[in-house]
Amino acid sequence: DSPEGTLRIAVVGCGGHARAVSLPAIATADYCEPTVIVSGSAEKRAELGETYMATALDYHEYTAGQAVDEYDAVYVSTPNRLHLPHVETAARLGKAVICEKPLEATLERAERLVAACENEGVPLMTAYRMQAAPVVRRLREFLRGGGIGEPQRAFGDFTYPALDGERGPDQWRLDPELAGAGALFDLGIYPLNTVRFLFDSDPVAAWGDTRSTGEAFAEVDEHSDFSVDFGEYVGNFSASFSGYTTTRLTVQGTHGRVVVDPAFGSTEDRDIMVETKAGRVRLVGVGANETREEFDYFANAVLTGGEIESDGEDGLVDMRTMTAVLESAETGSRVDV
Ligand code: NDP
Repeated sequence: DSPEGTLRIAVVGCGGHARAVSLPAIATADYCEPTVIVSGSAEKRAELGETYMATALDYHEYTAGQAVDEYDAVYVSTPNRLHLPHVETAARLGKAVICEKPLEATLERAERLVAACENEGVPLMTAYRMQAAPVVRRLREFLRGGGIGEPQRAFGDFTYPALDGERGPDQWRLDPELAGAGALFDLGIYPLNTVRFLFDSDPVAAWGDTRSTGEAFAEVDEHSDFSVDFGEYVGNFSASFSGYTTTRLTVQGTHGRVVVDPAFGSTEDRDIMVETKAGRVRLVGVGANETREEFDYFANAVLTGGEIESDGEDGLVDMRTMTAVLESAETGSRVDV
C-alpha cells in the first residue's frame, strides 16, 4: 500500500557514502526527503544545505530546540563507533532510525543501540541495501522456488582497497577504536548478510582467520577469511582491504549454481549467471537504484507501521557472527554463534 505523506529524514554525517549515494537516493525517493543535514563541516553544510534545500546543522544543533521538529527519522552515517550516541539520542527524541552497517564497532555497543530503540519503541532498520535490491530479492525467490535444487553452499568475496588516491593511512577504517575491525566488519558483512538473506537462515557457528601484511593495517584485519555453518548450508567468505576490487557471490545447489559478479557494490549493475544441466542463462546489467529502494522501504514501513525485515536483530546476528570470527582467529577454534 502507498503510505500517506512523506518521511522527513535528518542525515547525520555527510561522508563519502552519504554524499555520493544516500543523499541523492533519499532526495529522489517517493516516500521520504532529506529535510535536515547534519555535518561537522561548515563547508559541507553550506553546499549540501543548498543542493537539497534542507536545514543544515552541526552535531549539537540538530538535537536542540525547534530543529527537532524538522525531521521524523534519523539516518546515521558516521564512523561505526559513533553510531550508538546518535541512535540513543534519536530514540530518546522518538525518531525512527536507519543506521549504517555494521551497527556499531563492538557487539556490546550494538546491543545497547538496539536496546535503546526497543526501550523507546522507535523503529530501527540496519541499512542493508543489498536486501532492497530488486535483483537480490528476485534471486531469493528463484532459490526458494528450487531454481538450482536444494541450495547447499555459498561463496562470497568482497575486496575493496582501503588505500587509494583519496584515502590514505590516516582514516577511521584503519582505527580499531572507531571501526571495531577492518575488512571483516567493513566488507565481510555484505556477503554474510546477503547469504543469510538468500538462505533465510542464521549461523550456528563460525570460524576463520585474519591477517595483515601492509604497514597501514597493523591494528585491523587487512584480510579476513571465514566460514559459517548455517546448519543445512555452509558459507565461505573472504574480505580484503587490498587488491583489485572484486565483488563476487556464488550459490551452489544440488542441481545448479548462480554466480553474481559484480555482486556487492552500491552503484554497479550486477551480472548474473545461472547454470543447470539444462544450460546457462546470463542476465547482464539488471540494475536499479537499490539505495533509493532501501530508503523507500524504510519510509514506507515507518509511515504505515509495517514490519522491517532488516531490523536491529538482523544487524545483531551479523555482529555476533563477526565477533565469533574474531574470537576464532584468536583461538583457532570453531565458535558457536
Ligand atoms: P567517511 O569517512 O567517508 O565519512 C564519515 C563521516 O562521518 C565524515 O565525513 C564526517 O562527516 C563524519 N564524522 C563524524 N565524526 C567523525 C570522526 N571522528 N572521524 C571521521 N568522520 C567523522 O565514511 P563512509 O561514508 O564511507 O562510512 C560511513 C558509514 O557508512 C560507516 O558506518 C560505513 O560502514 C557505512 N557505509 C555503508 C555503505 C553501504 O553501502 N551501505 C558504503 C560505505 C560506507 P561530516 O564531515 O559531515 O561531519
